[in-house]
Amino acid sequence: MIIAVDGPAASGKGTLSKRIAAHYGLNHLDTGLLYRAVARALLDAGNALSDEAAAVTAARGLDFHALDETRLRGADAGEAASVVSVYPGVREALLQGQREFAAQKPGAVLDGRDIGTVICPDADAKLFVTASPEERAKRRWLELQKTNSTLSYDTVLADVRKRDERDSGRAAAPLKMADDARLLDTTKLGIEAAFQMALSLIEAEIAGEK
Ligand code: C5P
Repeated sequence: MIIAVDGPAASGKGTLSKRIAAHYGLNHLDTGLLYRAVARALLDAGNALSDEAAAVTAARGLDFHALDETRLRGADAGEAASVVSVYPGVREALLQGQREFAAQKPGAVLDGRDIGTVICPDADAKLFVTASPEERAKRRWLELQKTNSTLSYDTVLADVRKRDERDSGRAAAPLKMADDARLLDTTKLGIEAAFQMALSLIEAEIAGEK
């Protein structure tokens, strides 16, 4: 079974995907980490994010099994990832690895921006998880407080909006709800309620309900 979970930054799709994968005993791949790792590799090597050729080389050499989540989680890596993810060559270099991951037994939950539209168009169930920009910014800001970040809520909200714009506006595999995805708006839902809703949407999809 393959489950595609897409949505904008800080929509809760990562947390939900992990829980969905655990619930069904599936593998899980947070595909945002791949783009974050490409951006990180450029920055670590002293290359500019505008260096498309270096970004493609980094993407081709990426080891999906050596993703250091703690290092890649920061807001700066997310912002940098949204810059390199615009390059078609980067997306192309990461495509096959994602499909191979999805094809492994017993199946997988992949979360990102283009899973239902490009990576796994034939997924058994597709969710598009979203929430208002204000709510997403609030969640991200609260999360950042734990690391003693001094970023203001307004700065985080501006970052969320900028990222939405870049992810939705790019030509290659933009953030877009697949025609056959089910929408899950978590603006007014806590994580438990969102998880229960996600399961019922997946079950409805698998049962072939409208
Ligand atoms: O999901 P996360 O915030 O970690 O993703 C970081 C960035 O990576 C996104 O803003 C987006 O630009 C890019 N991304 C993408 N396609 C995916 C996953 C992430 O373009 N499937």
